[in-house]
Amino acid sequence: MAPEEYDCIVIGAGIQGSFTAYHLAKNKKKTLLLEQFILPHSRGSSHGQTRIIRKAYAENFYASMMGESCELWTLLEKEAGVTLYRRTGLLVMGPENGKDFQLIKSTIQSNRVPAVVLQRHEFSQHIPNVNLTHGDAAFVETDAGILYADRAVRAAQMVFQGHGGVIKDRQKVVQIEPGSMVTVTTGSGVYRAKSLVITAGPWASRVLPLTGLQLPLKVVRINVCYWKEKVPGSYSVTNRFPCFIQIQPKEAEHDIYGLPSNEYPGLMKLCYHMGSETDPDERDRQTDRSDVDILSRYISRCFPGLVPEPAVVESCLYTVTPDHHFVLDRHPTYSNIVIGAGFSGHGFKFGPVVGKVLSELSMGQVPSYDLSPFSIRRFHTQPKSAL
Ligand SMILES: Cc1cc2nc3c(=O)[nH]c(=O)nc-3n(C[C@H](O)[C@H](O)[C@H](O)COP(=O)(O)OP(=O)(O)OC[C@H]3O[C@@H](n4cnc5c(N)ncnc54)[C@H](O)[C@@H]3O)c2cc1C
Repeated sequence: MAPEEYDCIVIGAGIQGSFTAYHLAKNKKKTLLLEQFILPHSRGSSHGQTRIIRKAYAENFYASMMGESCELWTLLEKEAGVTLYRRTGLLVMGPENGKDFQLIKSTIQSNRVPAVVLQRHEFSQHIPNVNLTHGDAAFVETDAGILYADRAVRAAQMVFQGHGGVIKDRQKVVQIEPGSMVTVTTGSGVYRAKSLVITAGPWASRVLPLTGLQLPLKVVRINVCYWKEKVPGSYSVTNRFPCFIQIQPKEAEHDIYGLPSNEYPGLMKLCYHMGSETDPDERDRQTDRSDVDILSRYISRCFPGLVPEPAVVESCLYTVTPDHHFVLDRHPTYSNIVIGAGFSGHGFKFGPVVGKVLSELSMGQVPSYDLSPFSIRRFHTQPKSAL
C-alpha cells in the first residue's frame, strides 16, 4: 500500500506537539500527529492536573513570549469551551540582593507585568503560614496562576482534530528518511510529508539520532510531592493561597516551587526543580529521594503548616539542556525537519507560542520571535554524517 501523505507530520503528542499540530491544522495544513503510547498517558512530561503559568522570568525573551502565550491560552479556552486557567497569583521569594531575584524583578518592571512588592513587616499579613527567609525579599505577580494540564493537552488535540487533523497513537516512530518528502516509519505504518516536526520530549535523544543529530539533553525524574495541611484549607486555592517560587533556597542549589492545595483537597504540591538522571523507559526504576529530603527540610523551616513528609508522590520527567533554555530550531542539515526539545521543566505555559513558532518554521515562514536563544548552534553540535 502506498504511504499516506501529509503536508506535515508531528512526532509526539505532548503539549508542544499537540499545539504545533493545532497551529498547522488552523493554517490548513494536512497534518498527522504521531504518538508512541495510547493516549492519554502519564509517561512523559505533560501529564498531571496542574502547571504554573507566570511571566516572572529573569530573561526578557521569555516574558515577552508569555504575553502572546496568555492570549492564545484564552483563545483555546473559548475554542474548546473549557476552563484551562485559574488566577492565583505567584509569590516569588529569593535573596534580596541575589542576581536572579533582581533580574526577575527588573524583567517584571520592564515588561509592565502586574506585581505587588511585599515588605517584610507586612509579609505574614498577606501570606500567612509561610516564614520568609532572613535576607529574602518577596513580591507577587498578580495575574499568574494555574493551568489545568491534562485538560489543556486534550483541548489542543480536540481543536486540532476539529480542523481536520489526524492523531494516530500507539505508533512509535522507528525510522526517519529525510528528503524533500520526509518518510516516517512507525511500528505499524509508513507516512510521508513535506515537513516533519520532532517534539518527542524525554525521548528526543532517541528520535533525533534517526536524523543523524545528537543534542546534549539530560532526562531527570521529578518526584511530584503533595504535602498534607495540618489545618485543612490553610494553603488552599479557595482561600486564595498563591503559587510560589523560592529562588536559591538555603537547602539546595535549585529552586523550589509549589501550588496551592487544589487537585487533592488538603494536599499542597511542592517540588524541587531538579531530579536524578533516568532513562525515560525506566523512569520507575529511579528511586533516588534526595529531592524529597530537600523539600522536607525546606517545609519544616518555611511552611510550618504542612506535615514535612509527602502524602502522595507521583512522577514526571524533565528534559534539561545545559543552559535550561529550550531548543526551537530547524535541523542543521535538513531545513524541512524542525525540532522542539529540551523544555527543561518550564515549557508547559509556553505551549501555544512554542507550537506557533514550530509551525512557522515548518511552513518555511519567518518565526514571530527571535529564536537565537533557542538555537542548536549554541551547543556547537556537528550533525553526524550517518544518513
Ligand atoms: C513535575 C513537573 C512540573 C512542571 N511544572 C511546570 C510548570 O509549573 N510550568 C511550566 O510551564 N512547565 C512545567 N513543567 C514542564 C512542562 O510540563 C514540560 O516542559 C512540557 O510538558 C514538555 O512537553 P513536551 O511536549 O516537550 O514533552 P512530552 O509531554 O513528554 O511529549 C512528548 C511526546 O512524544 C512522544 N514520543 C516520544 N518518542 C516518540 C516516538 N519515537 N514515536 C512517537 N511518539 C513519541 C512521547 O510519548 C510523548 O507523548 C513541569 C514538568 C514536570 C515534569
